[in-house]
Amino acid sequence: MNIQESLNRLKEGNERFVTDSLDGKLQDNSRRNTLVGGQQPYAIILSCADSRVVPELAFDAGLGELFIIRVAGNVANSSSIASIEYAVAHLGSKLIVVMGHQSCGAVTAAVAGGDNGPNLNHLLGFIKPAISASEEGAAINNVTKKNAELTAEELVNKSEIIKNAVDKGDVKITHAYYNLDSGRVDFN
Ligand SMILES: [Zn+2]
Repeated sequence: MNIQESLNRLKEGNERFVTDSLDGKLQDNSRRNTLVGGQQPYAIILSCADSRVVPELAFDAGLGELFIIRVAGNVANSSSIASIEYAVAHLGSKLIVVMGHQSCGAVTAAVAGGDNGPNLNHLLGFIKPAISASEEGAAINNVTKKNAELTAEELVNKSEIIKNAVDKGDVKITHAYYNLDSGRVDFN
């Protein structure tokens, strides 16, 4: 599957999700057995951990189709980048989608500021560039979109493996926004 086919597949799956017509394929015993020996996920999704955002459902994907990293605020930290590097270098995934979502709690907390303890403070620090790049008093959802955009750029800036794959045309990075109400994913 090439990059465009991967993107089309995500869009088609999301259309099924939005219209309540999931096909639920590739989730059965035979699919499990097929995958024991290896995986070739066609896309990598960097998504928030939010329970309302479930990439496998949002794209109507089955086992072995999507390599998903979920971390609050869909940030590009060392661990999430390393996970993406693995899928790029070893699994042949060609498309990376950084997906923010409506009413993101992590972005809301980052905008609110204050002391949330060392771990959350550390994580929210990754969202600060999006706040700086947004207008004063910008709506949370707009900061979220900016965060996904900047995070997609950071993947190239912070990873030689990802940068080389993108430069060679083997991999494309895009960012997207998940609407909690409709379930629709707006791709960049
Ligand atoms: Zn979130």
